[in-house]
Amino acid sequence: MNVLVINCGSSSLKFQLINSDSEAVLAKGLCERIGIDGRLTYQPAGGEKEVSDKAMPTHTEAIQFVIDALTNEKTGVVKSLDEIGAVGHRVVHGGEKFASSVVITDEVKKAVEECNDLAPLHNPANLIGVAACEKLMPGTPMVAVFDTAFHQTMPEKAYMYGLPYEYYEKYKVRRYGFHGTSHSYVSKRAAEILGVPYDQTKTIVCHLGNGSSISAVLNGKSVDTSMGLTPLEGLVMGTRSGDIDPAILEFIAKKENLDIAGLMNMLNKKSGVYGLSNNLSSDFRDLDAAAEEGNVPAKIALEVFAYRVAKYVGSYVAAMNGVDNIVFTAGIGENSGPVRADVLSYLGYLGIEVDAEANKKRGEEVMISTPDSKVKVLVVPTNEELAIARETVALL
Ligand code: ADP
Repeated sequence: MNVLVINCGSSSLKFQLINSDSEAVLAKGLCERIGIDGRLTYQPAGGEKEVSDKAMPTHTEAIQFVIDALTNEKTGVVKSLDEIGAVGHRVVHGGEKFASSVVITDEVKKAVEECNDLAPLHNPANLIGVAACEKLMPGTPMVAVFDTAFHQTMPEKAYMYGLPYEYYEKYKVRRYGFHGTSHSYVSKRAAEILGVPYDQTKTIVCHLGNGSSISAVLNGKSVDTSMGLTPLEGLVMGTRSGDIDPAILEFIAKKENLDIAGLMNMLNKKSGVYGLSNNLSSDFRDLDAAAEEGNVPAKIALEVFAYRVAKYVGSYVAAMNGVDNIVFTAGIGENSGPVRADVLSYLGYLGIEVDAEANKKRGEEVMISTPDSKVKVLVVPTNEELAIARETVALL
């Protein structure tokens, strides 16, 4: 079966058409600037990337262009819509309602809408993508795969904040975690590569990208993760602060005359390694280059990033009373040997020995610990689209 995987944002939409038997990506692409003007990037497997400007006042036009591209006589990869058996939608927040993927029904849409409060930028966009597909592909079954679902196995002690209980009761204020599809895929894949039973393994996954999070996966279940009610908690990220002393907010609000929106903008968009590097860049390639040239804020930003990752790893070793495997994934985790080496330099006490040669590799599945290392350390490229396609087929 061919599964169309859709990741819909407020003004963008990423897609992949995946054949679930061969797991090959038949075509992929991106619609950008939806609601502004519109641009489609489309690439069939083995073919050239095409970029074209197209008017996309809404997501419905965007998805129509995706369908046109996929079925186009010249560069299309299927003859007609009939060859698309299902659609898998990435949905960011499933709240406490969804602990796994589900076939989309009217009740599911209503329940996702009820989670809009928890992800006001993402969930409404995800639902718009669902509605647009329903309109253009009536009768095609659709599945929602939630970023939060994998972490619904966290115990109360991991997901409750030290806040008045009534906020949990009234507003469901608790930790949810994100990147769940990635943490699940990567931890499972690591067990497969190592040939160990997933349900008897302690894994720590470091998903280090623009947004970064770490998870503790005990016997195949997430028992803790660094993001919280929102993706702002935890690690120092590209532009997000991660954990800070909450009292800083009042202090800075008074000094800089900022309101809540101004503070949230500062924490989400102007902090992280970008803010730390004195607004140099949120991209680790730029920071690496600048640090090499002696730029002090860039060097500090890189040090703070790795130190925070190492501290979270340490805390998850405590949470699971040990660790068998540590896995790096996402843009930085897959590509930056120096960041991995920095993080691992704090973890010698676990009996980790790094294979410096292997750690130079980028973007591929590779073991970067030596055969003698007590804890196995791997790089496993994440593949959220494939995971969504698999979930979709499994449910249908
Ligand atoms: P997103 O959270 O947007 O999905 P990604 O997982 O794609 O992010 O990660 C993007 C980040 O990966 C970039 O901002 C950059 O910092 C980092 N990155 C990509 N390639 C490299 C590289 N070769 N070396 C270091 N960092 C890299």
